Amino acid sequence: MLAPGAEPDVALARRLFDELKRRTGDSKGVTRASYGQGEQIAHGIVRREAEALGLDIATDAACNLYMTYAGTTPGRATFIGSHLDSVPLGGNFDGAAGVLMGLSVIAGYRRAGMRAPRDVTLMAIRAEESTWFGASYIGSRAAFGRLTGRELDDVRRSDDRTGLGAAIDAAGGDTGRLRRNESYLDPSHIGVFIEPHIEQGPALVAQGKPVGIVTGIRGSFRFRDACCHGAYAHSGATPRAARKDAVRAVAALITALDSLWSDWEANGHDLTVTFGKISTDPAEHAFSKVAGRVDFSLDLRSQSPETLRRLQVQLMQTVADIETAHGVGFDLGAMTGSDPAEMHPAVIAGLETASVATESPAIRMPGGAGHDAAVFAQMGVPTGMLFVRNANGSHNPEEEMDIGDFAAAARVLSRFCLSPPDCGE
Ligand SMILES: [Zn+2]
Repeated sequence: MLAPGAEPDVALARRLFDELKRRTGDSKGVTRASYGQGEQIAHGIVRREAEALGLDIATDAACNLYMTYAGTTPGRATFIGSHLDSVPLGGNFDGAAGVLMGLSVIAGYRRAGMRAPRDVTLMAIRAEESTWFGASYIGSRAAFGRLTGRELDDVRRSDDRTGLGAAIDAAGGDTGRLRRNESYLDPSHIGVFIEPHIEQGPALVAQGKPVGIVTGIRGSFRFRDACCHGAYAHSGATPRAARKDAVRAVAALITALDSLWSDWEANGHDLTVTFGKISTDPAEHAFSKVAGRVDFSLDLRSQSPETLRRLQVQLMQTVADIETAHGVGFDLGAMTGSDPAEMHPAVIAGLETASVATESPAIRMPGGAGHDAAVFAQMGVPTGMLFVRNANGSHNPEEEMDIGDFAAAARVLSRFCLSPPDCGE
């Protein structure tokens, strides 16, 4: 028979979700800017509760917050972590659910007078959302000393245009240590890292399951500020062959990549292709003009590094072909991205065992979006993720996570931390 787990303190999480919504609410949804006011408020709330629970509190040079509940035996700690920032006008659960789940689990142990075999460290991670400073996983990479000076000099995409370094220092951090690439975390001291998170796609809702266990996180490459240059011309007077139509050229690119996506997916490749922004120039466009310029963004993701590499080669070839065929020029701008990350098989198996012991057995699924867990996996930490069913996607005010589903995932996490897998010293 499996050892009983402690019931997580879900009422605590419910109270804190309400407080977060109230204090970081915006015209709609919530806004918790990375190293901005909303994120500071969220960190203050979580820190206050961790102090009330008597946890050991620490922060690093990037103001990530570590809250530790001591285990019964020395050894590598079990980390639970997620972020507390949000996109502008985002939802209340993306990120915060993971941190509050960790608090619920620890509060449950404490209430039951139990301790896990290893230290359980809850990490509230800074600046995961790349919308603010244009870089992915700022807080978790900083914890491992992997932020670059160039990234620290970048400015926030908001009216204040605050530099990342200045924002970190203003929040109480120490950018001197970050610029020297000092690492606060030693991967060899972390037994496992688990990130609980709401699901951002529709799979759990479609399958009627409250909890998912993630097998891997997609990597990406993206062009946030791409442009196609053609030539403005009269719509009636310019024959087809003489046009340099930026709209048709970008449409050709969209069509080509969409059919590539369909073909590759049919052949078993994992990928996504998204043109999230596309616009002609309002200062120059008109209904009776051939468009001379189109700005767009392009985001390509896959769980496979090989697929990403092949996709890049194929993209460049397609762009060159369209330039020739349409007489236009593409300037894709700076490329950013992240590497795919696999979740650790022993962690996946451990989460599965923990979930079987609860009322709601979890299903395995890929993780489409980027998460701090990818950084821990890439640093060699045995890593896993739990997804909680959530309707209406994320990064919007309509995120809809049922607190009962949150409780189901918290029970899995609670049991998992009581017998974390030994992934080898
Ligand atoms: Zn998130």
